[in-house]
Amino acid sequence: MSERILTHNLGYPRIGPNRELKRATEAFWAGRRGAGALEQTGRELRAAAWRRQREAGIDLIPSNDFSFYDQILDLSCLLGNVPRRFGWDGGPIGLNLYFRIARGGHSGDCGCGGIAAAGEMTKWFDTNYHYIVPEFTKETCFRLSGTKPFDEFREALALGIRTKPVLVGPLTYLHLGKAEDGLDRLSLLDGLVDVYAEILGGLAHEGAEWVQIDEPILGLDLAPAWRTAFDAAYARLRAAAPGLRIILATYFGALHENLELAAGLPVDALHLDLARASELDAVLGLLPAEKALSLGVVDGRNVWRNDFVVSRALIERAQQHGGRLFAAPSCSLLHVPVSLEREPGLGANLRGWLAFADEKLREVVTLAQMVNGEGDPVEVYKNQVAIQSRRASGLIHRPLVKARAVEVKREDAERGSPFSVRRRKQRETLGLPAFPTTTIGSFPQTEELRSSRARWRKHELSNADYERILEEEIAAVVRRQEELGIDVLVHGEAERNDMVEYFGEQLEGFAFTANGWVQSYGSRCVKPPVIFGDVSRPAPMTVRWSQYAQSLTERPMKGMLTGPITVLQWSFVRDDQPRRETARQIALALRDEVLDLEAAGIGVIQIDEPALREGLPLRRADWPEYLDWATEAFRLTAAGVRDETQIHTHMCYCEFNDIIASIAALDADVISIETSRSNMELLGAFTDFAYLNEIGPGVYDIHSPRVPTTDEMVGLLRKAAAVLPTENLWVNPDCGLKTRGWQETLEALRNMVEAARRLRRELA
Ligand code: GLN
Ligand code: ZN
Repeated sequence: MSERILTHNLGYPRIGPNRELKRATEAFWAGRRGAGALEQTGRELRAAAWRRQREAGIDLIPSNDFSFYDQILDLSCLLGNVPRRFGWDGGPIGLNLYFRIARGGHSGDCGCGGIAAAGEMTKWFDTNYHYIVPEFTKETCFRLSGTKPFDEFREALALGIRTKPVLVGPLTYLHLGKAEDGLDRLSLLDGLVDVYAEILGGLAHEGAEWVQIDEPILGLDLAPAWRTAFDAAYARLRAAAPGLRIILATYFGALHENLELAAGLPVDALHLDLARASELDAVLGLLPAEKALSLGVVDGRNVWRNDFVVSRALIERAQQHGGRLFAAPSCSLLHVPVSLEREPGLGANLRGWLAFADEKLREVVTLAQMVNGEGDPVEVYKNQVAIQSRRASGLIHRPLVKARAVEVKREDAERGSPFSVRRRKQRETLGLPAFPTTTIGSFPQTEELRSSRARWRKHELSNADYERILEEEIAAVVRRQEELGIDVLVHGEAERNDMVEYFGEQLEGFAFTANGWVQSYGSRCVKPPVIFGDVSRPAPMTVRWSQYAQSLTERPMKGMLTGPITVLQWSFVRDDQPRRETARQIALALRDEVLDLEAAGIGVIQIDEPALREGLPLRRADWPEYLDWATEAFRLTAAGVRDETQIHTHMCYCEFNDIIASIAALDADVISIETSRSNMELLGAFTDFAYLNEIGPGVYDIHSPRVPTTDEMVGLLRKAAAVLPTENLWVNPDCGLKTRGWQETLEALRNMVEAARRLRRELA
C-alpha cells in the first residue's frame, strides 16, 4: 500500500486578481504612493495568495514566488549581483535601486555620472514572461545581500502556513545570465553555491521543511560541462542543510538525456512536467524508491480543464514507484490568469472547459483525493461530462473548416512564379523608385483616438460616429504621408489597439476574457485571446479601411495583417489538436483576407510575423518540424495572390542567423526588419546567407523618442548598400509608430525620406 499522495504548487500568479500589483507599482513609480504603501500591497497580495492556496487544499504552498518585478532580478539582488553601473554600496537593496536595475534610470546618489541602462530583459524559456538577465563579469562575487526568502517564509508562518520556499537553482541562474567576453560562467559556480548553501541553512533555521529548487535548464540541450557541474553543486547543497528536504523542479519540456542526471542528484524529490513530457515510465525506471516523485499533471501553461481520467491513470501508474508521490501543476501558475470567478461573460460552455490558476489548484487537490480514496465520485463525473462536451461541441468542431485544412495541397502554399518573375511584374505595376520608402503599419495613436475607441466599446459612441472618426484619421495619415513623399503608404492602423485582438475578435473560434491577465514583464500584463475552436473568417476584417485609404491616393496603399504564427503565439491555444493544425486554420482564414484585399485593389500586402522566432521549441532537434509548418502557414496565407501583388513581411527581434533559411522560405517579396539598434550588424545573417528577395533594414529605432538625422540614416543605408544589392533595398523605420508622438514621427520620417533621396542621387 503506497503512502498518501500530497499536493504542492510551484508558484502562484503575483499580480493579484485585479492586477492590484500593477496599479500599486505604477503609483509608486509615478510618486503617488510611497515605498511603505507598496510594501503593504505586496504583503496583502502574498497573504491572500497563501490563504487561497490553503483553502484549495494544497499541502505544500510556495513562498518567495512573489516579486515586485521579476524573480530573477530578486535572486540577483539576494545574491548581491548588482551591475556596477548602478553604484550599489553593498547595503540593503531598497525598492528604488531595485526598480532602477529593472527599468534603468538615475538617482542622485548612484554616482554613475549619468543614466544607467536598465538590465536587459529576455524571454523566460518559451513563455511570454520576461526576466532581467543577470550580468557576470570577472569581478562578480556573490554574497548574501537580502532577506526576502526568509522574510516571506516568516510572514506566512505568522499566518499559520509553513511554506515551501522557491528558489531558481544555481545552474539555471548562471545559464540564464550573460557573461562578459572571455568569462566562463561556470567558473562562478563555486562561489555561487556558497551563497545558496547559506540560504538553505538559513531557511532550515527559520523552520522550513521543504524547499523547491527550480532547474528548468534540465529541459534544454546542455553542453557537457554544464551537465557535469550539477553533481558537485547539489552534493554541496545537500550537505549545507541535511534536514531540509529539496524538491528539484524541472518544467517546460522533456529531460531526455538529462533525465538520468536529474534522477541521480542528491535531492529528496524530483518534479516532472508531465503536460509537456511523457517521461513517466523512464523516470520510474531510474528514480530510487527513497526519493519522492512530483507529478506535474495539470498544465500550468494553458487554460484548459484537466482530463481526470488521463491524469488519474498517470498517477496510478506512478504508484508502482513505491516512494512518496506529489500531485502538482506542471510548472508555476505565473503563466495563467488567476481565476475564472471573474469571467461571468464567457458563456457556460466555454467556462466549463477552462481552468485558471485557482481552478487548477482545485484540480490537483481533487486528483490527489481521488487516488487517496477520499474523493467524491461526482467530481470525476462532472469533469468527464465537461471533457466529453468539449470533444463533441459544435462550437468547437466545424466540419467545413476541418475539411478545408485537410484538403490543402502543396501548391496552395506556393506563389505562381518564382521571385525573379514576380519582381519584374511588380516593378512594372508599382513603378517605385530605387530605395523605396515605407513604414511598418501603425502611426501614432493619439489620446483622442484611444478614448473614442473606449467610448465606442462602451456603446457611448455609435458605429457611424466611430467610423467617421477613423476615416478622418486615415485621411489625415494619408495626407501626411503624401506630404512627406513616402512611396508606399499605410492606412495607419487607427482601428486597432492590438495586433492579435483586432483579428481574433473578428474570427470564429476565438474567445476573449474580461480579466484573464498574465504578467509579461514588470507591471506589464497581457490578456491573450483563447483559441477554443476551429478558426474561420466569416467576413472581411480590414478591407474596408484599406480600400478607403487607397481611394484617397494614387500611391500604392499597403494592406496590413498579423500573420498566423504571431496570432498563434500570442494566444492561449487549443490542447486538443496539434499547434500546426491551429496554425493552418488561422492561415486559411487570413488567406481569404489577403485575397479580398487584392480583389479590392490593394497591390501591396504586409503580413507581420514578429513572433515567428518566439515559437521555436526549446530543443534544437524540434526546430525543423516547427519551422516547416510555421513557414508553410505563412506561405499559405500569402501565396494565393497574383504575381503582381507584392507581399511584405515584418519581423522585429534580434537574432536572424539561426533561422535565416526559414525566413527565406517564407518567400515574401519584401521583408522589413529591426536593425538600427545593432548598427546594421543584424544584416549579417542576410548577407552570409545570400538572401535574394527585397529587404528593408530599419534605419531608425522607434523605441526611442530621439529623432535621427538624415546623415545617420544615410550612414546606415550606405552600410546596408555595401553588403546587399542596392536594387533590393527599402527604406523604413524599425517597427510600427503607434507608441510615438506625431511631432517626432514627422521629423524622423522627413529625414528618412531625405536619406532615401540622397542615396538615389548617389546611385544615379
Ligand atoms: N504592423 C504593426 C505595427 O506597425 C507591426 C507591429 C510589430 O511588429 N510588433 O504596429
Ligand atoms: Zn515590429
